[in-house]
Amino acid sequence: MSATIIDGKQVAAEVRAEVATEVAAFVAEHGRPPGLATILVGEDAASAVYVGGKQRACAEVGIKGFDHRLPADATREDLVALIDRLNADPEVSGILCQLPVPGHLDGVELTNLIAAEKDVDGLTIASAGRLALGLPGLRSCTPAGVIRLLRQAGVELSGAEAVVIGRSNLFGKPMAQLLLQANATVTVAHSRTADLAGVCARADVLIAAVGRPEMVRRDWIKPGATVIDVGINRRDPAPTDGSSSLVGDVHFGEAAEVASAVTPVPGGVGPMTIAELLANTVQAARIQAGAGAS
Ligand code: NAP
Repeated sequence: MSATIIDGKQVAAEVRAEVATEVAAFVAEHGRPPGLATILVGEDAASAVYVGGKQRACAEVGIKGFDHRLPADATREDLVALIDRLNADPEVSGILCQLPVPGHLDGVELTNLIAAEKDVDGLTIASAGRLALGLPGLRSCTPAGVIRLLRQAGVELSGAEAVVIGRSNLFGKPMAQLLLQANATVTVAHSRTADLAGVCARADVLIAAVGRPEMVRRDWIKPGATVIDVGINRRDPAPTDGSSSLVGDVHFGEAAEVASAVTPVPGGVGPMTIAELLANTVQAARIQAGAGAS
């Protein structure tokens, strides 16, 4: 079998184009754009790149960016005051606090100060609770992006056996909830799972979010399954032949031979995260303008 490659770049570009149209409609109706506030504490280079990418993506679709950068020694009180101010600012539709924060701060506590209707990362206890209870609300971006990729690829989730490897609050748990809502039969595997290969081999939809390069091999994959690779790992040593220095949690070449569809790394799930963040920001703006959550 030769798998279809699910093109996350293409789907993300479509989502961004849709968001740009929705932003224009919001501006026409309300006389101002949706706004996204990002908070970055300290000098972490990777975090600065992520935040820069989010702010650029906002500008491209017409969302107003509020780029808050605080020194590494910013106090809890500084952060609390800033988040309070952003929660109360009607120009700010969405707020995200880039994690990790420096060690003297508590990223979970700070994230939870973000008002639920502005929680565009979907990471607060309120958002996680709403998701678990099947109530409307803002959903965590990467799992929402995976669902969108599966839908675009025409994958039937209702009745499907889905296996998620990884149980993080950031990805694995919200992913499992979204799959459940789509009527899949869901197994969440993790580092203590017995016979991981056997569990994975049952999956019609296999989603790997572990952080271990090329862990998922050919014999872990049911012939004809859809394989979604969330992992982002750096090759060590970096390749010298011009190929990508990033690799997923799935052995792409082997998966492509046995699966019916597979996401590449890079260019699969990765581009969806920022696209969903933009979509969430517009949704948040609409919720605050009184249109309700969907
Ligand atoms: P995480 O918090 O480190 O969680 C990793 C999970 O994998 C844990 O639940 C862990 O199990 C499990 N695990 C570790 N080793 C395992 C093994 N040998 N067998 C089975 N399970 C194992 O990571 P994360 O934040 O969920 O991210 C996972 C990967 O996805 C990373 O590569 C990350 O970079 C990537 N990611 C990408 C995006 C994106 O594309 N935008 C977004 C989020 C994450 P225990 O719970 O038992 O320890």
